Amino acid sequence: MASSETRNAIAYFEGEFRPLADAKVNVMTHAFLYGTATFEGIRAYWNADQGELYALKLNEHLERLRASSKILMMDPLPEVAELRKIVVELLRQNGFKEDVYVRPSVYKSTEAIGVRLHELKNSLYVIAIPFGNYIDVESGIRCATVATRRTADLAIPARAKVVGNYVNSAFSKSEAMLNGHDEAIVLTEAGKVSEGSAENLFLLRGDTLITPGMNDDILEGITRSAVIEIAREFGIKVAERSIDRSELYIGDEIFLCGTGAQISPVIEVDHRSIGSGGIGPVTKRIQERYFAAVQGRVPEYAHWLTPIYGTKKGVA
Ligand code: PMP
Repeated sequence: MASSETRNAIAYFEGEFRPLADAKVNVMTHAFLYGTATFEGIRAYWNADQGELYALKLNEHLERLRASSKILMMDPLPEVAELRKIVVELLRQNGFKEDVYVRPSVYKSTEAIGVRLHELKNSLYVIAIPFGNYIDVESGIRCATVATRRTADLAIPARAKVVGNYVNSAFSKSEAMLNGHDEAIVLTEAGKVSEGSAENLFLLRGDTLITPGMNDDILEGITRSAVIEIAREFGIKVAERSIDRSELYIGDEIFLCGTGAQISPVIEVDHRSIGSGGIGPVTKRIQERYFAAVQGRVPEYAHWLTPIYGTKKGVA
């Protein structure tokens, strides 16, 4: 696996910082056998002018990791403060001077056959790798609603970021891509819009930004909350409610958001162009504010960021 990007990377594994190349599990590991692991995807943004790396919404991600892990019966769990220390130290040890993706994961580490959640050991690993854009953020993407349904809360809860659940996301993404689209829009069992394969969705109708609520089998997205914060700052109304598939077709603007996707404008859904067919002005405005904030250029959003190297130049 040693690509040039990961050859010298340091990981946190089995209680120690060590070369990523040495962070290996046995094939009998429960998480490998059954997908019984939880994880987070966190971005850290490099600001060259300030010589600072900013981890974005670190506490929120670590709290969600604990929540996902609780759902998966992974008690006791490290406290947020302890997890924070590990992530910050890992980023420092890697000495990144570029944008980074950090993935902490709690996994069922017992080496045994037997499908269950209870009475298994849990372990933590954290990896961090250089990372650019995950999907397009500039030209607009073409999406399709897919036949694959979002896992229902009574199946694998979508609000828990469970590794095994990403098989569902992979079905959705491949279905969309192999049919010639860029990304999937996934519906619930009831046929309401849930989210993208790994992104939450926002739809602008008139003066209101609409996003599916917590009861539409979404992951409770952290970028989604950031977008809501920016929308409120701009005085844009936000409604959290169910969205029908056909409502997507008549939206003025649509965008997807997530740690990987950032803010990705959608210009087409199921072969209908959205709004004027280009990137809408509200999406553009939110996107610009978001990128400035995550790169440490907006003092009002300094509370989103954890400076890793502690250059203490602050935001500018
Ligand atoms: N939905 C799913 C299924 C995801 O995997 C992600 C990415 N974590 C999101 C939504 C967006 O969540 P966040 O903004 O917290 O990254």
